[in-house]
Amino acid sequence: SAVLHCENLAKTYAEGRMRTPVFDGLGLTVEQGETVAIVGASGAGKSTLLHLLGGLDVPTSGEVYVAGQKMSALTDAARGRLRNQSLGFVYQFHHLLPEFTALENVMMPVMLAGADVKAAAQRARALLDSVGLGHRVEHKPGELSGGERQRAAVARALVNQPACVLGDEPTGNLDEKTAANVFAQMLELNRAQKTSLVLVTHDRRLARKLDRVLELHEGKLRHLPHEQL
Ligand code: ADP
Ligand code: ADP
Repeated sequence: SAVLHCENLAKTYAEGRMRTPVFDGLGLTVEQGETVAIVGASGAGKSTLLHLLGGLDVPTSGEVYVAGQKMSALTDAARGRLRNQSLGFVYQFHHLLPEFTALENVMMPVMLAGADVKAAAQRARALLDSVGLGHRVEHKPGELSGGERQRAAVARALVNQPACVLGDEPTGNLDEKTAANVFAQMLELNRAQKTSLVLVTHDRRLARKLDRVLELHEGKLRHLPHEQL
């Protein structure tokens, strides 16, 4: 069944009297466990689309469904719960809280979902272990390397076993070797948990490792066969 679905999605930013839509009439369905890359030129609207899918911004028209639930029909609180429990987010910059340890950072989504401290710590430790940070749980973000910080962010995104992870250039700030390492671990964990992934990237070598590649171009999503990448 679909973990993400949108149809007839349109987004126009108001800028003075200019009203040029970023896209209009966009549709996308992501099935459980499916991994989808979204590529396209800078300014094509990739981040805008990801924000709409994640409920961080509202479409000008059209609907987004996350785990079968219509986002626009939910209260802010219910949308917040759905985002925390059904979606994971990884960005180009880690957004870990600097005053908290890696373990505390990864525990937070579990605590927010209502688990007790002990259960949250157990799950966070298991996830940090699986991204190779078992020996770094008490370190704060400032004491971790760039690759380690992104791996902690990946652990945080996956700790609630979300239906789907939304990634916006999650390895874009790392050198090539570290990026490949972090990306491989993220993909492996996603696949092990049968979590879907929607990944915005300009890197076609990373994109081709996913099940499906879509190019956002002039407001439309079109399928790019792997052999064209
Ligand atoms: P991409 O992620 O593909 O680089 P974006 O989604 O960031 O593209 O941007 C798509 C278009 O929308 C661009 O023309 C950008 O300038 C514009 N845009 C993005 N965010 C805003 C905003 N908050 N206000 C006005 N225009 C925006
Ligand atoms: P950076 O290059 O930013 O320091 P890396 O992600 O390349 O970060 O890895 C940092 C260290 O952690 C390296 O010594 C690497 O060998 C080690 N490492 C990376 N992934 C794993 C893993 N899954 N299990 C154990 N150790 C790992």
